[in-house]
Amino acid sequence: MQEQRQQLLDTSRELCRLGLNRGTSGNASVRVSNDDGQPGFLITPSGMAVNQMATDDMVWMDFSANWVGQRQPSSEWRFHLDILQHRPQIKAVIHTHSMFATTLSTFRRDIPPFHYMIALAGGDSIRCAPYALFGSQLLSDHALAALYDRKACLLANHGMIAIGESLDKALRITEEVETLCEQYLRALQIGQPHLLTHEEMREVQEKFKGYGDWAKKP
Ligand code: 13P
Ligand code: ZN
Repeated sequence: MQEQRQQLLDTSRELCRLGLNRGTSGNASVRVSNDDGQPGFLITPSGMAVNQMATDDMVWMDFSANWVGQRQPSSEWRFHLDILQHRPQIKAVIHTHSMFATTLSTFRRDIPPFHYMIALAGGDSIRCAPYALFGSQLLSDHALAALYDRKACLLANHGMIAIGESLDKALRITEEVETLCEQYLRALQIGQPHLLTHEEMREVQEKFKGYGDWAKKP
């Protein structure tokens, strides 16, 4: 599990380096069984700045919410647990309060297909989950529904969640969603951007299947 502890720390540091998280905002998790082979995940500790974190601060949790660690698990463990439990292909969950995603989330609107890269998150839009208190089961329920058939969503008046088959893939989606949010926000300053049609977005999905190596990487 030491390798995954290091990967989780590296990803958390990268999120800060890229400006996607600051201070104690945001959290991340990665699916890993414990040394006895019991299914679960490692999650970042609660309320700790990333530059203070060490690998031993990562908390291991099972799917009954029992946890092992020297710190409290992130206050958002409920949505990390629920996503990893309900989406077996998903291995990593990233949550940020990044500038543009968070700004857009305050409008409580889905992001429409104003750019073809919206398809990277798995559909014709990036949904915005309704507002609920941070750390609550209701927030987790809303997030799970907004992520249905998708790899990213906004959380109203809060931030975003991106998920993937590895920490690297979840990180790439996080970066892309933040870029899309910045572009959409800038476009809205001029007016209402033209949107792509369902058929145009379906074409993009088809083309993504053979695009580069990113769909094939483990
Ligand atoms: P934690 O420090 O408990 O992970 O909380 C940060 C956060 O983003 C809550 O939504
Ligand atoms: Zn948060």
